[in-house]
Order: sequence, then structure tokens, then C-alpha cells
Amino acid sequence: MPFSSDHPSSSAPVTQVVSFEEARHIVERHATGVCPKDAETVDLLTGLGRVLAEGVVADRDFPPFDRATRDGYAVRAEDLAEVPAHLEVVGEVKAGAWPDPGVCSVGRGQAVEIMTGAPLPAGADAVVMVEHTSLTAKTVEVRRGVSTGENFVLRGSEARTGNVLLDRGRRLDHAGIAIAAAVGKSRVQVFRKPRVAVLSTGDEVVDVDATPGPAQIRNSNAYSLAAQVQSAGGEAVRLAIAPDEPRRLRALIEEGLDCDILLLTGGVSMGKYDLVVQALGELNAEFYFTGVEIQPGRPVVFGSCSAGAPARADGDVVVGTQAMAPTPHRKYFFGLPGNPVSTMVTFELFARPMIEALAGMTPQPLIFLRARLKLEIRTELRKKTRLKRFLPAVLAGEFENAELELVRWQGSGDIAALARANCYIVIPPNCERIGAGEWIPLLMRSS
Ligand code: AMP
Ligand code: MG
Repeated sequence: MPFSSDHPSSSAPVTQVVSFEEARHIVERHATGVCPKDAETVDLLTGLGRVLAEGVVADRDFPPFDRATRDGYAVRAEDLAEVPAHLEVVGEVKAGAWPDPGVCSVGRGQAVEIMTGAPLPAGADAVVMVEHTSLTAKTVEVRRGVSTGENFVLRGSEARTGNVLLDRGRRLDHAGIAIAAAVGKSRVQVFRKPRVAVLSTGDEVVDVDATPGPAQIRNSNAYSLAAQVQSAGGEAVRLAIAPDEPRRLRALIEEGLDCDILLLTGGVSMGKYDLVVQALGELNAEFYFTGVEIQPGRPVVFGSCSAGAPARADGDVVVGTQAMAPTPHRKYFFGLPGNPVSTMVTFELFARPMIEALAGMTPQPLIFLRARLKLEIRTELRKKTRLKRFLPAVLAGEFENAELELVRWQGSGDIAALARANCYIVIPPNCERIGAGEWIPLLMRSS
């Protein structure tokens, strides 16, 4: 169905409103088809937060020897079948020392003093903790028995030489850094970050450095999005603010399509001056969805555009949900609603996995946790809706006693409320009340 080519347009675009789960699956399917950029080699610590372009492989067995996990005595378990037992101490192995079998081994009725991290001497098959022993001259009294294999880790039981310890596509966190260091990699190969264009739209939106007029607001979305892009592994490219005027908007969209992906905010609702979908349609966009049954964020749009392709004269909008990946010259875009909380929520739910994929990351499922609700939720739900809601909330409490509480908010423009929250309560469609003490799903807010 064509748009009216008049400006401003009052005709409704072809819409494809899908459920939350369906929308997420559509994005995930497309995300599996994208290719990351080429690789670069960086110092290990510079690699923190970056995505590995190579697998990290064990260069030796882990542990590289049978390693004591306690300070005590290396023994033969059968010598402690009856306790207390008295064993002859024939040597000592400290961490970093190698127990030469000819000089330091454990025979029947014997023990070798051993420290945590030291190699188990020949003949021993267990370590007894020093706490259960008393040493007098060259004899140790052992008061507790041990089983074979106790208090040491067998060579190669954590990993064998050549095993892949970190897969390509894994984002390096502190544990990954530890593994790379343990196998001797002071430099790692990571993917270059995808360039993510951030385009804010709206006649009322002004730069952060400008003094806003009485009806103007500062462009907070460009900054929250840039921060979210960075945390998803991308590099944000902030474009000029697009006015609600088709020609300039289209020019800026085309500029954005030079990047690896384009994020727009604002202008995707049903208002008279919401021109984003139309402008994208004129650039031969294919839309995979033009709305999702969620709140906040219902008007979110996802599609792809062929960069540099001639504009379609009739401005037709093609809607499809197939998992076809765009050809290399097609670029994905998300049109996120302009309300700041909607922008942030829809980024987390839909744009993040695509940016992570462009960054080379193996796709991660979105997982909801559950926690107990502190106070009844009723008034906030009095308007029944078919939409799945993501309401800002605080997960607080101590240790195992986590409790979930809704943050008071004024709707999807309320950034202050979102800043106080650390998660979203996930409320199913048509829910009118949730009682105190109920276990309910939540989505942690990524930092
Ligand atoms: P829209 O999605 O364009 O209808 O905008 C919805 C609401 O979000 C309006 O109140 C806008 O003023 C506000 N808004 C739009 N863009 C931004 C932005 N870049 N930063 C902050 N608020 C915005
Ligand atoms: Mg607007």
C-alpha cells in the first residue's frame, strides 16, 4: 500500500505489529546472518569488553601437573586406613618446586610435606590437610583418613593441551582475560567495532550544548543510545538532529546508512509529523516489523535498506518477516520511539542483539529472572492492555532475600524514574493486579 506522497503525511503506513517474542525472534534470526568486521590485534587488557576473533587454546595441560589444593602431607590413602597413623616424613615440595622422583617420592608408611599449588610427588595418591596432623621430629601423626584423589587436581582434568578454552565470538570479561593470560597470550585478536549511526529526529530536539527554547528539549536520546551502543560492543556515530521535514530527514538517513547499522529515534508514531517510516520507505526499505505489542515502545520499527539504491518513486513500504539477511550493500535499521524510556527499553530488547552480532558476538538469549514482589501492583495496571509491559523497578534486599519494587513514574518520558531503577518488571498482557509476595519475572537493566 503506498503512502501519500504529500507532506505532512496523514495516511497510515502498512503495518506489521507483532508480539514481543515474535519481534525478538525476527531480530535474532537476522542477527545470525550478519558478518562482523575484520580483526585487529590488541594488548590483552585493551581487549576487555571486545569480542574475540580467534579461539583461545590451552598451550599445555591444565593443571600442568597433579596439583595439591591444600597445605599438608602427600600420602598414600591406604596408609591411613586406620587412624591415628604415624608416617615418616621424607621430604618437602613447595609451590614452584619439582619433586624429582629419585629424591622425593612417597613409599609405604611415608609422607611428603606439601604446599598448595605444588606438584604431587610420585607414589602419593592423596593429600591430607595440615589441620589434621601433628609433626614431631621426622614423624607426622595423621588423625583423619583420606580417599584416593582427595585434595589434589589431576593433571589435564581442567583442560588438555589444544582444547579450546574461549570460543571465537566470546566477549572478553575478567574471566576470559584470566584464561588468555594463563595460556600466555599477552595480545589477542578481536573484531573491529561496528559503526552505529545514531540519528535523532524532531523539530523540538536541540543539541545538549544549546539553550533550549520554551518548547524545546535537549537531545538526551543520542547520548543514552551512544552509551548503550558502546556497552553492546559498537562505536556510536552521532549524526546531526533531523528536523521533521522529509528532505533533510532523508539526507541524514542516507548519511547514517554509510555506517554498519542505523538507529533512529523519534518520528515513528502515528503523529502527523512522524515521518521516519515514510522516509525509509522512499529509500527502498524492507520492514520486518513496524510495531511490537509492548509498553513502553510499541511503535518500534525494524528493517533494512539498500544503501545507495535509487529511491522508490511511489514510496511503497514492503513488509516481510522472512529471515533473509540483507546482501552486503543492505543495511539494517531500527526506528526507536522518541520517548526516552521507550528508546532505552527498545534498544535493550531489539537493537542490542543485532549490534552484538555485528560486533562478532555469539547471540545471547534474553533471559528473565524471577523475584518476589514487595508491594501489590494494582493502580499502575488499572488500564487493561493487550501489551506486555516492562516497568522500571528496583531489585533490592540483602543476600538471598531479594525483593522487587516498582518505581513511581510518570510514563515513558520519565528518565529520572528510569535512572532510579535497576531492572524492569515484566507484566503479561491483560494483567490487572499482582499481589505482594508473588514471584514475578524481571529483566535486569544492563549497565
Ligand atoms: P516522538 O517519538 O517523535 O513522537 O517523540 C516522543 C516524545 O519523545 C516527545 O515528547 C519528544 O519530545 C521526545 N523525544 C523525541 N526525541 C527525543 C530525543 N532525541 N531526546 C529526548 N527526548 C526526545
Ligand atoms: Mg517527533
